[in-house]
Amino acid sequence: MAGFHQSPITSHQSPLVPTNHESPITDQRSSVAVHVESATKTYPSGLAALGMVDLEVREGEFATLLGPSGCGKSTLLRMVGGLLQPSTGKVGLWTESSHAISRPRLAFVFQSPTLMPWASVERNVRLPLDLTHAGADAESKIQSALELVGLREFKNAYPRELSGGMQMRVSIARALVTEPRLLLMDEPFGALDEITRNRLDREIRDLWARRSLTTLFVTHSIYEAVFLSTRVLVMSARPGRIVGEITVDEPHPRTDAFRVSERFARRCAQISDMLAGASAERGENGRDAA
Ligand code: ADP
Repeated sequence: MAGFHQSPITSHQSPLVPTNHESPITDQRSSVAVHVESATKTYPSGLAALGMVDLEVREGEFATLLGPSGCGKSTLLRMVGGLLQPSTGKVGLWTESSHAISRPRLAFVFQSPTLMPWASVERNVRLPLDLTHAGADAESKIQSALELVGLREFKNAYPRELSGGMQMRVSIARALVTEPRLLLMDEPFGALDEITRNRLDREIRDLWARRSLTTLFVTHSIYEAVFLSTRVLVMSARPGRIVGEITVDEPHPRTDAFRVSERFARRCAQISDMLAGASAERGENGRDAA
């Protein structure tokens, strides 16, 4: 299976933020893309999914929410995406930017590719543009998105003819076709085998580096989080809180050599310690983590 296409980015592919091929943009001069302040979420059933969460993601970061299953990662991601309202506190996008825009474009990629089985790859990728009545440049946007994920030659194929990894690439192309300013990814590779998952991790990381696409990613894999991210936010078990974070200032490109390096192992160990510390704290408080 071909990797994501490596050709230079053309003007119609450019995201709203400038392209940066070098190190991650995590400095204090970049604007705040995601701002979550004292947010909690209790579902109508009474289930407290999220404790008090404060979070800032800066433009150009690849930030990852990491925590055990059921700790509220998806809940937080959906709140950031505006699909859920916080019970208390607030969530804003680009709120502190001097060049604030009214409706920043964002796109979701979910764990399941959720493709329309009766439609070709091209029609699946076209869907968000049809829904928003995109203009005359829709065609070139679709071709660019397909090219970015290396699926241009599969544009007439149907989902059933594609492997799980390729279907996920279609789902990513469908997200990118809208040229989002913020990409929200909810365990997108969790259902794939490890080899495919590692390959897509490399490819999404390359894509992020080439387009400086602000990304908020969710996973429960420590290894995936360290490999992908510029910053990992570690969450406690439910009701989830952010109990720590580490910056992964490893340069791009990250290769398989990074996965077996001492630096990689050290960061994974740091995160394991944070997760263990969070569950020990819960044990002391006598609360149920399930
Ligand atoms: P994670 O993404 O970390 O696995 P979720 O955010 O999906 O966690 O879920 C956190 C908790 O909230 C879980 O216990 C889940 O069952 C519960 N939950 C998720 N969505 C709803 C909902 N719509 N109504 C009630 N409970 C929910």
